[in-house]
Amino acid sequence: MANTEDFFKKITSHAKEYGFVFQSSELYDGLSAVYDYGPNGVELKNNIKQYWWRSMTQMHENIVGIDSAVFMHPKIWKASGHVDAFNDPLIDNKDSKKRYRADVLIEDHIAKIEEKINKEIAKAKKRFGDNFNEEQFLATSERVKGYKAQVEDIHQRFADLMNANDLKGLRDLIIELEIACPISGTRNWTDVRQFNLMFATKMGSVSDDSDTIYLRPETAQGIFVNYLNVQKTGRMKIPFGIAQIGKAFRNEIVARQFIFRMREFEQMEMEFFCRPGTEMQWFEYWKQERLNWHLALGIPKEKYRYHDHEKLAHYANAATDIEFEFPFGFKELEGIHSRTDFDLKRHQEFSGKKIQYFDSEINESYIPYCVETSIGLDRTFLAVLSYAFTEETLEDGSQRVVLKLPKMLAPYRCAVLPLVNKDGLPEKAKKIVDDLRWSFRTHYEEKDTIGKRYRRHDAIGTPFCITVDTQTMEDDTVTIRERDTMQQERVSLDNIKSFILQH
Ligand code: ATP
Repeated sequence: MANTEDFFKKITSHAKEYGFVFQSSELYDGLSAVYDYGPNGVELKNNIKQYWWRSMTQMHENIVGIDSAVFMHPKIWKASGHVDAFNDPLIDNKDSKKRYRADVLIEDHIAKIEEKINKEIAKAKKRFGDNFNEEQFLATSERVKGYKAQVEDIHQRFADLMNANDLKGLRDLIIELEIACPISGTRNWTDVRQFNLMFATKMGSVSDDSDTIYLRPETAQGIFVNYLNVQKTGRMKIPFGIAQIGKAFRNEIVARQFIFRMREFEQMEMEFFCRPGTEMQWFEYWKQERLNWHLALGIPKEKYRYHDHEKLAHYANAATDIEFEFPFGFKELEGIHSRTDFDLKRHQEFSGKKIQYFDSEINESYIPYCVETSIGLDRTFLAVLSYAFTEETLEDGSQRVVLKLPKMLAPYRCAVLPLVNKDGLPEKAKKIVDDLRWSFRTHYEEKDTIGKRYRRHDAIGTPFCITVDTQTMEDDTVTIRERDTMQQERVSLDNIKSFILQH
């Protein structure tokens, strides 16, 4: 898709130019699907982390945090099922020699048919104008009904094949749907094979199989194996949650989408332990609660949707994704899974240690059930960045690029700019900075014309530019320019802080 490529080019170069994201090892021509965060990127990323961490551990009194190690005992990954089942089905095109995920090829094919439905709707909207009734159109248009039936049929067969782990069936479906390689355009496919996504390494000096350890592919297992420690030392009562933010590693096959799919990334996960039989109620609760968290960023709700899983992971009895409408379509941003007692039970079995909770309210011991919320930090970064990235033509015909970031997430909350670099204005401005920096991350800048400085701060998403001019020297007032409207207001020095907090 040309648009998708254009978007990635634009956002990648903006992210690089303004110090948000750099290709890892760029000096050595880069390392595929690994990225570094620059000075502005790390601030935005930390602000997202803070927002998540606080909402989990500060706003819920029954959720506590941990920070577990990346390296863990290899048996953990046997117990969790990752050694045997953390696979992607991959397929190669014999002409282009490119490797694809078989499931992604089929999902993309379905998305193309859905796109056709959207085009039909758009055409009909144009034709019928104000009289257009979408529901009626969807129910009556033969063409749309045909497309919908196709989507449902492929979906069902695809889900059945994935659930049955039927690799030959997946290949047959790809052939039947006449899916071609986007590079070579041919349908000359290999068989479908399973590929384990975990990175393995060796620990210590002896290199036989027993010292193989894995870089964790999810942070969740660090929570499960610490369940007893946390429950006992924190005297936690069910229901309660354990939250963690940390790195995860996956040897992704398809890794061409900037920070959407990386080989080293960060997850923000929370495991919520509850009484068996109450998990569906908590699953519903966390579905809503997590969506509310996203909406509190001020991003419109049309940008989000739920997607229930047809194929459940080996540990789940219910699963939903919160998808975000990236410029390249709706894609998973967060997963909410009801993981039953699968993980704790398996760790009890594999470790030989009892993992039970005595519930004094009902006088019973049991292995708790668990509902997980798992969100990618880098993917949230990309969601926020791509939503915020705006190119505008102003009234005077000039162009500006502005990042309309949620204000609390912006790398700098405000910038203080002396209009000219003389007459005591810089000194006055620096005094204001010294005062504001206790409350907000504040930038001081005196180089270039005021217009250029505004543009630079628009481009990194600074919500407020505070300008010190000659009038400031007379009456202790400044102008505050708001990023999105570009409107300016005269505010007295005493009121700057409250102005920023209120707007
Ligand atoms: P996908 O289907 O996109 O591969 P997944 O279903 O494997 O994702 P989960 O295992 O549910 O993902 O992981 C939880 C979250 O971690 C995802 O919703 C996503 O935001 C993030 N995530 C997973 N894999 C990656 C990756 N390779 N790069 C960046 N973020 C990721």
